[in-house]
Amino acid sequence: MDTKPMIVVTGASRGIGAAVCRKLARAGHPVAVNYATSHDAAERVVAEILAAGGRAAAFPGDMGREADIVGLFTAAEAALGPLGGLVNNAGITGPLSRVADITPAILERVLAVNVTGCFLAAREAIRRLSTKMGGNGGVIVNIASRAAGLGGAGEWVHYAASKGAVETFTIGLAREVAGEGIRVNAVSPGLIDTDIHASAGAPDRVARLAAGVPLGRAGSADEVADAVQFLMSDQAAYITGAILPVSGGR
Ligand code: NAP
Repeated sequence: MDTKPMIVVTGASRGIGAAVCRKLARAGHPVAVNYATSHDAAERVVAEILAAGGRAAAFPGDMGREADIVGLFTAAEAALGPLGGLVNNAGITGPLSRVADITPAILERVLAVNVTGCFLAAREAIRRLSTKMGGNGGVIVNIASRAAGLGGAGEWVHYAASKGAVETFTIGLAREVAGEGIRVNAVSPGLIDTDIHASAGAPDRVARLAAGVPLGRAGSADEVADAVQFLMSDQAAYITGAILPVSGGR
């Protein structure tokens, strides 16, 4: 296994983030496994990586809070060495809600985690990676959503709009730091079989919508992680500002 620089993966105790950690570790990166509350699940991801010969450690932190974001990067570098990249994966839908019923509390929380958290984690990464700030360059991959293009009508326009912000952020940031040795891309998953649907209050959502996906099924967290790993790798050396749908055509 090559020795590669450490990657911070936010929201990595379950679902897509956990799959990304396993793949990046297998590719030789030490990985910082961030989680909000699922300590045991995050430790299980770490244990799997260690058992496979990789390096990883778990770090709590609410990606909706600046102090936690700053603390995550400091703790991760102290434990696992200099940063080489960031996967901005932590994200929440908030509860299902039509716009007519939306509340400031839902909007504030979804935007705090999905948008402000994404910006601030990227800020912490850039300060460490930028060749203009003494770093060696690196890669940021943001996890957006096909909801950004589909709009989320009747379910979560608030969530879809937050992911639209992630996509625009990806394009702008990619251009802003291209001359500083940092590539920035996004993966835009479609309907992926994880806990996120049940957490939003729609446990049957994947079963209900899978047949309507052009490829005829929901995707897996592993299939999203493959795309993240590609964008993180040198095989994607000439790719920046891209938004890659991993959505079975949805
Ligand atoms: P998931 O199964 O619900 O897992 C969410 C992960 O994020 C968990 O590890 C959770 O930690 C963590 N998390 C939640 N809030 C956090 C916070 N404030 N700070 C730090 N970590 C936090 O979700 P998923 O489906 O894997 O989604 C991952 C990303 O993909 C999200 O950005 C989501 O919007 C995006 N996405 C998912 C789909 C899909 O269909 N699944 C489609 C498009 C985009 P705890 O375990 O500690 O709560």
